[in-house]
Amino acid sequence: MLQISTEFFTGKTATVYEGNNAEQTPSLLLHICCAPCSPYILQELKKNFSLSCFFYNPNIHPEEEYDFRYKELVALTEEYGLPLEKGSYNTKAWFALNGKLGNLPEKSERCDNCIQLRLETAAKKAQEEGFDFFSTVLSVSPHKDAEKINLMGKNLSTKYGIPFLYADFKKKNGFLNTLTLSKELNLQRQNYCGCTFSKMRTLEKMMTKV
Ligand code: SF4
Repeated sequence: MLQISTEFFTGKTATVYEGNNAEQTPSLLLHICCAPCSPYILQELKKNFSLSCFFYNPNIHPEEEYDFRYKELVALTEEYGLPLEKGSYNTKAWFALNGKLGNLPEKSERCDNCIQLRLETAAKKAQEEGFDFFSTVLSVSPHKDAEKINLMGKNLSTKYGIPFLYADFKKKNGFLNTLTLSKELNLQRQNYCGCTFSKMRTLEKMMTKV
């Protein structure tokens, strides 16, 4: 029986997943928002999982930025020899949830909707394609609430019947190591999270400093 922890960098007692096939490394579908958030996580997860990467981010605005983030991730996953798939850029679905929530700050209902949409799409895909686990890199950001992300993952795990890999990737120097590696790899760290509202908020802050 293959046993592997379903917790990664959470600092909590591990829950053990018992896979059916002891011969095989368990497969993990990992949702990724952008290349600079990923290199350290990819390096670590590769040690325990057969990793597949999934870029699904209809939140990113404008489309040129979306294309840029995707291309950077293509280069990174090629460097690491990992498969990468791209979800649809269905911005209408994202705006239907969040179009009226532009005034809310980060970590609000808008971000909950945004993360839920991306994580649920990853969960569905992981179930349809028979992965052993699904997860997301989003918890690496100091601006993201790992507890909330893990709770969403837990609920989706129940809904789709597939284990979620609990994580707080920023812990145990995870964020620091991510920054260091992304600098070494010349990956561009953006100054806004992704959506048009986060971009406007950053621009406003820059203007008030001038
Ligand atoms: S700030 Fe980031 S997480 Fe929040 S809604 Fe915008 S893109 Fe999504």
